[in-house]
Amino acid sequence: MLESRPKMLLSIVVPVYNEIEVLPSLLAAIRGVMAGTGHAYEIILVDDGSLDGTSQALKQAATTDAHIKALFFSRNFGHQAAITAGLDFASGDAAVVIDADLQDPPELIPQLIARWREGFDVVYAQRRNRKGETWLKRVVSSAGYKLINKIADVDIPPNTGDFRLISRRVVDEINSMKESHGFLRGMVAVIGFRQTSVLFDRPARFEGTGKYNRFLGSLRIGLNGIFCFSNYALSISSKLGFLIAGSAFLLALVYLILKLIGTPFPLGNPTIVILLLFLGGVQLITVGILGEYIGRIYEEIRQRPKFIVDRKEGL
Ligand code: UDP
Ligand code: MG
Repeated sequence: MLESRPKMLLSIVVPVYNEIEVLPSLLAAIRGVMAGTGHAYEIILVDDGSLDGTSQALKQAATTDAHIKALFFSRNFGHQAAITAGLDFASGDAAVVIDADLQDPPELIPQLIARWREGFDVVYAQRRNRKGETWLKRVVSSAGYKLINKIADVDIPPNTGDFRLISRRVVDEINSMKESHGFLRGMVAVIGFRQTSVLFDRPARFEGTGKYNRFLGSLRIGLNGIFCFSNYALSISSKLGFLIAGSAFLLALVYLILKLIGTPFPLGNPTIVILLLFLGGVQLITVGILGEYIGRIYEEIRQRPKFIVDRKEGL
C-alpha cells in the first residue's frame, strides 16, 4: 500500500537552459509547494550547457540547499536529453518533470501527487490554453498532435508537454530503454500503466524569451514523434507511387480518346514541364522520408551517449 510507506521521496526534474532570470522564482516556488505537501523531495536541475550564468547560480543553489542537486552537461544537448539525464539520476518514489520557465506551474504538483497516491503511474498535466505562444507555434503544434495521433502507433494526449508525474516503475522502464528519447511523451505512452490527466492553464513565459530556435526545437521533437513511433511515412512512398502511376494511365486514356474523336488537345512543353517537376518533387520527398529513417537508424547504431555530464553538484 502506498499510504503505509513511511517516507515518500519526490524527485523534481528540471531541464534548464539559459534561465538565469527565472531561476530564483522557480526554486522558491518549488520549495514552497513541496514544503506544503509534507513529502521529502529532491530537485534535480540539469544544466543543458547554459551560457548566461545559470550554471554558476545552480552551483551556488546546490551548495546552499541540500534538496538541490545539479548536473552540468558538457554542451547543449537539448530539452529531451536533459530530462533523460535528470530521470537517470532521480532516486525518488516518483518523479515530476517540469520546465524551468514557470510555464508549468509548480502549484499543480500537489494535484499530480494526489492522483499518483490514488494509484496512477502517469499523471500528465494537460493545458487548457496556450497563452503567450505565437500563432505559428500553436497551429503547427496542434496539427502535429493530430498527425502523430493519427499515424503513430501510440496515443499521445493532446496539449500535454513533458510536465507530468511518473511513478518509480515508469522511471525505471524509461531508464532501461536503450533507444534515444527524442520524444519522451511517446516513450511514456508506449510504456502504458494507469495514466490520467490534470487540467491547467498554461501562462505565458514568466521571464526571458522563447527564442526562435526553441520553436525549431519543438518542431524537431514533434518530427521525432512521427518518425520514431510509426512507419507510416514509409508507406506514403508506395501510396504516392500508385497514385501517380494511376494518374498517368488515366491521362494516357484521355489523350487516346481525344485523339480518337479528333478533338485538338494541348501538347508539348507545358505538360512535360509540369510532369517533370511533379515527379521530381515526389521522388525527392520519398527519398527524404527514407533519409529520416536511415538517419535515425544510423544514430541508434552508433550508440553515442545521448548526453555527456561534465560536473555534478550534490549528487
Ligand atoms: N531547455 C533545455 N535545453 C534546450 C532548450 C530548452 O533544457 O536546448 C529547457 C528550458 O530551460 C525549459 C524547457 O527546456 O526549462 C522548455 O524550454 P522552452 O520553454 O524554450 O520550450 P517551450 O515552452 O517553448 O516548449
Ligand atoms: Mg517554455
